[in-house]
Amino acid sequence: MTDEFTTPIYNDDDADVAQITDKTVAVLGYGSQGHAHAQNLADSGIDVIVGLRESSSSRSAAEADGLRVDTPDVAAAEADIISVLVPDTIQPAVYEAIAPGIEPGDTLQFAHGFNIHYNQINPKAGVDVTMIAPKTPGHLLRRNYTNDEGTPALLAVERDATGEAHAEALAYAKALGCTRAGVVETTFQEETETDLFGEQAVLCGGIVELIVAGYETLVDGGYSQEMAYFECLNEMKLIIDLMYEGGTMAMWNSVSDTAEFGGLTVGPEIIDEGVRENMEEALADVQDGTFARDWILENQAGRPEYAQRRAAMQNHDIEDVGARLRALFSWADDAGAQ
Ligand code: NAD
Ligand code: MG
Repeated sequence: MTDEFTTPIYNDDDADVAQITDKTVAVLGYGSQGHAHAQNLADSGIDVIVGLRESSSSRSAAEADGLRVDTPDVAAAEADIISVLVPDTIQPAVYEAIAPGIEPGDTLQFAHGFNIHYNQINPKAGVDVTMIAPKTPGHLLRRNYTNDEGTPALLAVERDATGEAHAEALAYAKALGCTRAGVVETTFQEETETDLFGEQAVLCGGIVELIVAGYETLVDGGYSQEMAYFECLNEMKLIIDLMYEGGTMAMWNSVSDTAEFGGLTVGPEIIDEGVRENMEEALADVQDGTFARDWILENQAGRPEYAQRRAAMQNHDIEDVGARLRALFSWADDAGAQ
């Protein structure tokens, strides 16, 4: 463990896979995270059983990967650690189905805190509740493991009924290959609230609205859709790559002095106090549960607003011009997938 950060970050020396080698792990779901957790755990010598519905199209994939498969209730009843990796919106229903087979001393293990933090799942007494949340999509978690590389992850313990929860979570993280890179201590509350805020205000919502607003401003100003697309969307990747590699200074150092002066002076006028106040409101809605309630109700209603907003985005002309331009340099698809 290193103590140069504000929160503990664990590495291989802090974790012992042997802590869970005498246990059975049920991995519920075989999607992005599920397939990677199941295979990495199995390759680390852990007894794994995958839990999937009888009708699941993922059954043949899990079996082809050499894993035992049963229904979620049977898998969870057999297991000591139940890793809940079905989509967040259906986890409460899956929990109802597996609850009879969960015993005191078992562990419920998550990769995102939403359902625990907002009380959509209330695990029975005596059960440990932990989170190991890799900070990448599952296919990278799997690829990094097979390449002897690590994937950073978050660790949180919501409830430690056995006294072993923290050590077991670290063992689980090590078996995924995450302690090779670093496992950051957090809480279910912090992970859930920062994740929701980040994807709404900055990553998914914020960046798309910034791009679309810039695109529309140029097109409304009489410039071509093609120019607006390149300037506001296509070039975004180059800028993000520079910041990913070396922070904002790597980006500022790579662009021209003119871009740097214009960016440093005009940027704060675009993302102004009003935008920051909007961000504070979005954060408050996450913190007081307003967003969670809206999303749960939206799902119960069959996702009408979700469908309508998605269709509007799909029909925006930035999608149309973008698809036609990307077809001209389709090799970028392959490069982007590397
Ligand atoms: P996913 O949508 O990729 O996979 C879901 C899997 O669950 C599929 O195999 C599906 O067949 C199965 N499934 C669906 N309904 C089921 C049911 N009723 N019973 C049993 N299985 C069912 O999900 P994901 O993206 O891997 O997300 C799983 C968890 O991991 C979530 O909590 C998510 O927040 C978290 N997470 C995801 C990522 C990511 O990049 N995808 C990263 C970190 C954490
Ligand atoms: Mg996220």
